[in-house]
Amino acid sequence: MEEVRQLWSFIHGDIMDGSMRRLLRASLGLCPRHAWAYAVVEVELWQAGAGARGGHQPFDVTILYEDLLEHVADGLDQKSSLLHRHPDDVLVPVGPCRICADMASPDLPGLRIGYANSNTEALTAEANTLVHSTTWCLETVGLWRERVCPDCDPSSEGTGDPVLLCCYHLAKRRPLAEDLRHEVAARLREIRARMRHLTDSMTDHGAAVGAAENTSWIEAMGFFAGWGLPLYLATDVGEGWPEPHSQGAEQGE
Ligand SMILES: [Zn+2]
Ligand SMILES: [Zn+2]
Repeated sequence: MEEVRQLWSFIHGDIMDGSMRRLLRASLGLCPRHAWAYAVVEVELWQAGAGARGGHQPFDVTILYEDLLEHVADGLDQKSSLLHRHPDDVLVPVGPCRICADMASPDLPGLRIGYANSNTEALTAEANTLVHSTTWCLETVGLWRERVCPDCDPSSEGTGDPVLLCCYHLAKRRPLAEDLRHEVAARLREIRARMRHLTDSMTDHGAAVGAAENTSWIEAMGFFAGWGLPLYLATDVGEGWPEPHSQGAEQGE
């Protein structure tokens, strides 16, 4: 419950702060569990937004991941040089997940005040049903299913196209060939371009978008946080949180 309260507070405050953005770049966002939980909390709990869906959209998620996609694409496109970090080091998070760090801090719980008219218990119950997140995943599964990281996907047994690898599995294959680095960077920029239209569509002035844009944030999240949650939601509509993605243990150094 404390976790949901921290995430709700994070979405509506911390993430818009400039110094927090820099920390989020270094740590590549949140750990996989909190990255997906953050998206789910926003999608489930945001009511009465602009755009066709009137809320239940990942607005702050797309703002954050536009920034992170550009950061990683720029890093991967850099030339190797003796003076700088190797270009594929950009795939390795530096620093802890903010939510994990906050949860571990003895001072913070109790100081954070929930947003909106938030009764934490009610918020937790609502986020746990994942109705809107499941709808997003099912509506777009036809587009993203072929773009799942082959090493995250139990059905591909790791034999798929390496360009589709998520950040974590890509980092495990370092050092990366230069061609692969540029191909991945191009793929991330392509996702980002679609996601910009999606972000616009959630504002008062933005045009409506189609499935290609709607699936973009799931692809961005899949890259940074792995594909466990969408695969789970699209195949098995169960109750409660899925198992945390195991790659979280690797975060932070
Ligand atoms: Zn975390
Ligand atoms: Zn993966």
